[in-house]
This record gives sequence, structure tokens and C-alpha cells, in this order.
Amino acid sequence: MALSATQEAIRETVREFAVEEIRPTLRECDREERFPEGVWNGLADLDLTGLTTPGSYGGFDADRVTYAVVNEEVAYGSLSVATALSVHCLATSCIAEFGDGDLREAWLPEMVEGRPVGAFALSEPDAGSNPAEMSTTATRDGDEWVLDGTKQWITNGARAGVVVVFAKAEEADAEPPTRGGGSVTQFLVPADAEGLSVGDPEEKLGLRASDTVSLTFDGVRVPDRYRLTEPGRGLAAALSILNGGRVGIAAQAVGLGQAALDEALEYAAEREQFDRPIGEFQSVRHTLAEMHTQVQAGRLLTREAARRMDAGEGDARLAASAAKCFASEAAVDVTADAVQVHGGAGYTTDHPVEQFYRDATVTTIYEGTTQIQKNVIADRLLD
Ligand SMILES: Cc1cc2nc3c(=O)[nH]c(=O)nc-3n(C[C@H](O)[C@H](O)[C@H](O)COP(=O)(O)OP(=O)(O)OC[C@H]3O[C@@H](n4cnc5c(N)ncnc54)[C@H](O)[C@@H]3O)c2cc1C
Repeated sequence: MALSATQEAIRETVREFAVEEIRPTLRECDREERFPEGVWNGLADLDLTGLTTPGSYGGFDADRVTYAVVNEEVAYGSLSVATALSVHCLATSCIAEFGDGDLREAWLPEMVEGRPVGAFALSEPDAGSNPAEMSTTATRDGDEWVLDGTKQWITNGARAGVVVVFAKAEEADAEPPTRGGGSVTQFLVPADAEGLSVGDPEEKLGLRASDTVSLTFDGVRVPDRYRLTEPGRGLAAALSILNGGRVGIAAQAVGLGQAALDEALEYAAEREQFDRPIGEFQSVRHTLAEMHTQVQAGRLLTREAARRMDAGEGDARLAASAAKCFASEAAVDVTADAVQVHGGAGYTTDHPVEQFYRDATVTTIYEGTTQIQKNVIADRLLD
């Protein structure tokens, strides 16, 4: 799918930033499990921290195709950075779409500038694929709500200045929380709220520069004006925002796959065995051809899903799930192939492909696993 001249110019700018500013931090930040805050400042300078925020709050107000293109190119530099950016955008999107005018005015202009960083807290230790079974509660107390519970796997959780939190609105005497997602609502919670504590960083297989923690809410009080949706509307709101998010994750998987392919192409041209570059052996050539085809197919599905969202055309949820399902599994395959093309060297930290390989798997897990995407696709097809 052809990009417009503006989209192509944005793609080139972000690719340049990814190669010159993001990629040099890749190895060290992975080793030290540290987020590159300087890179975040650079994303803000490029207006990318306001990517999905309306122009009236100083945001970029990108269409979905542009959003996908930016995610792809940032992930070409580092999946951890792209993940942080897309989660920040989930938070700004929730505030922009569901917050009232005062709340938007109070938070969005600064978030567009990059800080406070946003987090999106839906998952819990016992409620991942099925968020309707969350046990975090919000109990009304006069003009305030009191939040109690634990959220898990929260990207940007320790870096965040503001968290969008999903909880079940409960009556004061309800115990235990009601089953199902019927009462879920959504709150904006400042990260310095009393009673909100940050857990230890998760030690992860990949995505190690991304900040992933649990957040515990112990009697956290927020005013009613920080409630983003009516009780009972929170889960639908989460799913509609995540629908756009899935296109972003699909695009990140494409960017990671492209990065792995480019490394493999370079290595195949320079590495010699049996007196010739390994890129002359047919099996290596076919692997490279398959890698290209996988990446390109993922890109087309992703941009088509984004285009449908922009056009309000067809079943965007089906298209987003198909793109996320395919592109993330392709990223796992393509990064594994890139390691194989590198032989033993690919198994070491001398080349970034080992990190790409470790990073890729998470794209099949977060924002809905591959199995959940297949459930969505089948449901849409059979309905
Ligand atoms: C690095 C990282 C960052 C994350 N960031 C965030 C974040 O910022 N905010 C947030 O809210 N969450 C975040 N998540 C959570 C993520 O969205 C969940 O991990 C994901 O939704 C899966 O939930 P789970 O881990 O509880 O797995 P489970 O739901 O326990 O699933 C376990 C397995 O069972 C399968 N399964 C479950 N139900 C079904 C079914 N109905 N049909 C078929 N198979 C099924 C799953 O596919 C999976 O293979 C993050 C996760 C990771 C790893």
C-alpha cells in the first residue's frame, strides 16, 4: 500500500532517528535493563509523544496509517522504545477520548511534551486474557472513589506520572467483586497518589529496556472528575482503544522483522564459507526470500487494517487482529531465521539478531495473545 508524500517523509525522519539515536542505545539498555530516557526526549522533540493526541492539545493527531508507520520505524531501532511509546499513546488516547474538557486540558498538553509519561493498567495477576475477571475495585465515597487491587505487567509503570486504571465500580458493602466485566470503569490516577506503590521490575526474556512492573492500589483516592467512563463502560472503552493499539503492535513486529532481515542480508553478503559468500547458497537465499515475504505480508496486513480504521471501512477489529496475529508470529519466525543465517555469531551479543529474537516473542503475547487474536478472528468470521 502506497504511503502519501507526508507519510513517506515522516517514515524517513523516524527511520533516521531510529538508526542514529535509538539503535546505538540498544545493546547497553538491554544489558542494564534501563530505559533510554534521552531517546524519549528525542521522541518528544519529534512530536511523537503526542502522536495520537488531538491538535487542539498540541498533539500530532496522526491518522492510523501514520501511527503504524511510526511504530514500525521506532521498533526498527528498538522494540522496548516502541512499546513505551505505544503504551504512552494508549494512555493519551483514553484521556483524549473519554476525559472531560478540564481533565484533557490539565494533562494532555504536558503528556504531548513527553512528561508525564503515561501507563495503561488493565492486566492483573489473575486476569490477563480475560480482563472481565479483574478484581481491582473502585468504591464510591462521596465525591471520591477509592481504588484497591494490583495490576501486573504494567509497561512504563515505574516511569509513569499518570496511569489509566481499570477497576470494577463496587458498592461499599460488596464483597467479593462482582463477576464479569459489567461494572468496569476507567480512572486517571496520578502516579504520586497516596497508596499507589510500584513493584520490582520484571526480569524478562527480552524487551529488557522496557520498564515492566506491578502497581498496587491500596486505598488510592481519586476525585469523581478523574473517572473517564461510566461504570460498565470501561471494558468496552479498553477494547476499543486496544483495537487501535493492536495495529501499533503489528507494526512494531514488522519493524523488528525488517531490522532482522536487514542484518541477515548484510551478513549473508559478507560472510564467506566454501570460498564464497553464504548468500550464494540457495538455502540461504531462500531463507532470505521467505523472510522478506513474511515481513512484507505483515506490513500489508497492518497498513490495510490501519487504512480501514482511517476510512471507517469494513470490520476494523477483524483486520487489526489478523494483522497482529500474522505480523507477530512472522516476527518470531523471521528473527529466528536471522539468527540461523548468522550461524554461531548470531547466538552471541556481537550481533543484534540475538536480541531481536528474544524481543520478538512478546509481540505474540501483549495486547492480546495470538490465541486471543484467533478467537476474535473466528468470532468475527462466524458471527
Ligand atoms: C512485557 C509485557 C508488557 C505488558 N504491558 C502491559 C501493559 O502495559 N498494560 C497491561 O494492562 N498489560 C500489559 N501486559 C499484559 C499482557 O497484555 C498479558 O500478558 C496478556 O494479555 C496475556 O495475559 P496473561 O499473561 O495473564 O496470560 P493468560 O491469560 O494466563 O494466558 C495464558 C495462555 O493461555 C492462553 N489462553 C487464555 N485464554 C484463552 C482462550 N480463551 N482461548 C485460547 N487460549 C487462551 C493464552 O493465549 C496464553 O497462551 C504486558 C505483558 C508483557 C509480557
